[in-house]
Amino acid sequence: MILYCATTNPGKLREFRQAAAGLLTLEALPHLQEIPPPLEDGATFEANAIVKALYYSQFEDAPVMAEDSGLVVDALDGAPGVYSARFAGDGAADGDNNRLLLERMKDRPNRAARYRCVIALAEKGQVLGTWTGAVEGEILDEMRGANGFGYDPMFYYPPFGCTFGEAPAERKLAVSHRGEAFRKMMEWWRVR
Ligand code: IMP
Repeated sequence: MILYCATTNPGKLREFRQAAAGLLTLEALPHLQEIPPPLEDGATFEANAIVKALYYSQFEDAPVMAEDSGLVVDALDGAPGVYSARFAGDGAADGDNNRLLLERMKDRPNRAARYRCVIALAEKGQVLGTWTGAVEGEILDEMRGANGFGYDPMFYYPPFGCTFGEAPAERKLAVSHRGEAFRKMMEWWRVR
C-alpha cells in the first residue's frame, strides 16, 4: 500500500521516506507542484496539518498525510511557531530565517526551545487521525553543521552534545518531533 505525503519541503520528505523505509511505500502526492497550496491560516500546528491533509486528500483516492511543524522559542513568546517557514517573510529561505533567529536571540539568556510536529491523515475529505511529536533543545548563538534543514544548525540537542545540523540523519530521526509523530502514526496504521 502507498501512503501519499503532501509536502513540498524536500527536508521533510527525505525524513519521512527514511522513517517509512521497510515499513511502507511513502510517495510524494502526484502533481503536488501543480496543485495550488491551501491557505495555512490556522493558529496551531494541528489546525494547519488538518487543513492540508483534508485539502490534498481530494486529489487522491488513497490516504494522504500532511504535516505541520515548527520551532517554538520560549524567549520569543513561542515564535516563530506556526510561522517558522516564513519567519523572515513569505518565500524566505532557511538561511534568512536562521539569520533572523540569530538576531532576535542575541543577548537572550533563556535559550530553551522545542520543535513540534503534527501529522494529519485524511482520506477523501475525512480526517482519519492526528499524531504529535516534540523535542526539546536550545538555540545556539551560531550555526553548526550542514545536515538536516531549516533551523537545525542552530538547534542544539543536549543529549547528543551537538546540533541537529551536525547529527547524522538517522540519529535525528530517532529523537525528533517528526520521527516521534511518524512512529505514532505507523503504530495506528499497523493495528487499524
Ligand atoms: P511548514 O511547512 O509550514 O510546516 O513549516 C515548517 C518549518 O518549520 C520548516 O520550514 C522549518 O523552518 C521548521 N522546521 C520544522 N521541522 C524542522 C526540522 O526538523 N528541522 C529544522 N527546521 C524545522
